[in-house]
Amino acid sequence: MTSESPSERPPLTLADFDDLQVDALKGVGPKKQAALGHLNIASLYDLLTHYPRRYIDRTREATIADLVEGVEGMVLVTIGRSDKRILKGRRTIVTVDVKDDTGTLKLTFFNQPWRQKQLTEGMSAVVFGKAENFRGRRQMTNPLVDLVGDRTGRIVPIYPQSDKAGIATWDISRWIDETLRRAGDRGFAEPLPDTIRQQHDLIGRAQAFTGIHGPESMATVEEARRRLVFDELFRIQVALVQRKRALERSTVGVRHSVHVSGDEFGGELIDRFLNHLPFALTGAQDRAITEILSDMDKPAPMHRLLQGDVGSGKTAVALAALLGAVQGGHQGALMAPTEVLAEQHHISIRNMVEEMMLPDPENLLGERPFRVDLLTNKVGKVERARMAEELINGRVDVLIGTHALIQESVTFGSLGLVVIDEQHRFGVEQRAALRDKGAGEAVPDVLVMTATPIPRTAAMTVYGDLDVSVLDEMPPGRTPIETVWVRTEPVVPQEPDPDGPPVHEIDRSAASDLAPEDVWSHVKKEVKAGRQAYVVTPLIEESDKVDAASAEETWEELTGGHLYGLNVGLLHGRISPAEKEQTMSLFRSGDIDVLVATTVIEVGVDVPNATVIVIIDADRFGIAQLHQLRGRVGRGGGASTCFLLGPGMTVEGATRLAALVGSTDGFELAEIDLDLRGEGTIMGERQKGRSDLKLASLRRDRYWVEQAREAAFTVVDADPELTNHPDLAAELRALLGEEDTEFLLKG
Ligand code: ADP
Ligand code: MG
Repeated sequence: MTSESPSERPPLTLADFDDLQVDALKGVGPKKQAALGHLNIASLYDLLTHYPRRYIDRTREATIADLVEGVEGMVLVTIGRSDKRILKGRRTIVTVDVKDDTGTLKLTFFNQPWRQKQLTEGMSAVVFGKAENFRGRRQMTNPLVDLVGDRTGRIVPIYPQSDKAGIATWDISRWIDETLRRAGDRGFAEPLPDTIRQQHDLIGRAQAFTGIHGPESMATVEEARRRLVFDELFRIQVALVQRKRALERSTVGVRHSVHVSGDEFGGELIDRFLNHLPFALTGAQDRAITEILSDMDKPAPMHRLLQGDVGSGKTAVALAALLGAVQGGHQGALMAPTEVLAEQHHISIRNMVEEMMLPDPENLLGERPFRVDLLTNKVGKVERARMAEELINGRVDVLIGTHALIQESVTFGSLGLVVIDEQHRFGVEQRAALRDKGAGEAVPDVLVMTATPIPRTAAMTVYGDLDVSVLDEMPPGRTPIETVWVRTEPVVPQEPDPDGPPVHEIDRSAASDLAPEDVWSHVKKEVKAGRQAYVVTPLIEESDKVDAASAEETWEELTGGHLYGLNVGLLHGRISPAEKEQTMSLFRSGDIDVLVATTVIEVGVDVPNATVIVIIDADRFGIAQLHQLRGRVGRGGGASTCFLLGPGMTVEGATRLAALVGSTDGFELAEIDLDLRGEGTIMGERQKGRSDLKLASLRRDRYWVEQAREAAFTVVDADPELTNHPDLAAELRALLGEEDTEFLLKG
């Protein structure tokens, strides 16, 4: 029998670190283990990837003598004596004397009795707070404290810590040191192919982990960060690319007849449609149509995302694709997220194909009209049964509907193309469910449309299994929407951000001088001129009921006040479908002047005569949502205005409103949103989950997202199952579970 000596054991992969729990470390017993659990650290992998949130450069920190009264400052100090007093009403005060080479400072903590135990004499700590002068002595009240223990070295890493759980930044530092030291003799595995490492000048893993946790200089940190960021992004991209390629290999698509000659695509119906369009396609539409038809011409199924701002003309592109399916004898389906939107698509698409005829041998005349049907939950049983039959017989050419389309009873005779509008409302399962509606073996092509522009690199991460077409050009002749921020008192009490600057210091310079009264007179003036307006009511919480109540309240106030005498309609999620329908059609026909609504109007409602939108308590909406809402106006020839009523209570709120005032470009706004909210915007709820990007930032590391994607294609295309990359495969399995990659695709 032979036993492996330590040096013969293979180097450690991150999957190995993930198998080892933190209690393997010295000084980590059940109590510390539980405390680490609060920081989401269970394994040594979690620990190693618990990255410093900042670094202190000892040689460059301010000293106590530098502190200026009334100004926030950060100093590195040694803890001295402390004292605890209990006041009346059980309030406690802990005072701690600290010092550096230049002077002394007194720290005062109210109601944090545990500080006395935490801050023991002789320790080093970094304190951050506003310097005050109290009876001739420098002091800080309730400063932020980072314990750095007895660490030496110029650069000190500061970790996200948990005061409550009793884990200090120097504990984490110590355990990471121990992990790295003990991993030393086996070393770190290198799952990145050499060529890729060399191409991007990336350092080795061991060096990267040491560099990020115990850097000699800030340049070391940068080098280390680059390597670790690449690792994170590369893993995600490999998973996405693998999935994309697997799907392409395993499925047989429908080969549509859309190829004309050379690299020209079109065909009878498409050409007819394009020739009869009352406008010329934008360059972007033309390009997108070509990209889509060229996918449809290929044997593998299409999975394409069509991104385009509100009003960029996605419908025409989708219709060209649907006609491509129909002209070859197949059927198309278009799924929209709401009934209103499905109905609208139905009307506009029916109009566009009105006079088209299709060959029909069973018909005496040898042809029949193009047929577009609508399926929503409103369609009754009998009608539904009839529709089901005609679908399977292939007599319905295009079926438009809500998620009613993915019910079991719906089967197409020959489904060739699925178009899904407003992707973010549907999950990956729904996408798949609709795709599986075909009767045959072949998998229909899928075109997903979204009006929520997301930055390119974010799209690569979130929709990594899709190809992307972008409509980045607006049809000509639009009058840009003027956006005006009108400062108001908050409708719903809002807490200012405790970590942000005081409310009076928030930059509200983008706000106008108008008062809310001016907004309502503008609405009345427009109505008098024959125009219409929307009023969007506050988003109170994720509850239909509360939002509905707020909409009703606003409606009552306006009809009895500022908008007295106008015809004001009301729309919210609690109104019956029949009533909703009636209100919408009255608004479309111009019989309703002003429509008061919750965000149910967010997607796709199209009334070109509406030239004003007033969004109440706009602070509470996100950038993307505000942009969507604003897109309800500016659809006709008339100059349009969007009024954002809001206090700008938080830095974020004020920045969002200022962004909307400053730009009407959805992609630019998406970038700002990404900057403001970070990855959470697109990675969604699971942000705290394991597949999360811990170090990489989709905004800061845009360049690396693209590089990682390219590298992933290189590796996966040469070795689809990663047979020659066992370490990489192991890490993907361990760190990006099935569930996580699935999640990434949901977006
Ligand atoms: P989206 O769905 O992308 O928000 P739509 O497809 O609803 O946009 O188009 C918005 C409006 O612009 C429609 O009234 C449509 O007829 C019109 N439109 C689309 N493409 C063009 C174009 N190339 N030139 C002029 N108008 C266009
Ligand atoms: Mg649309």
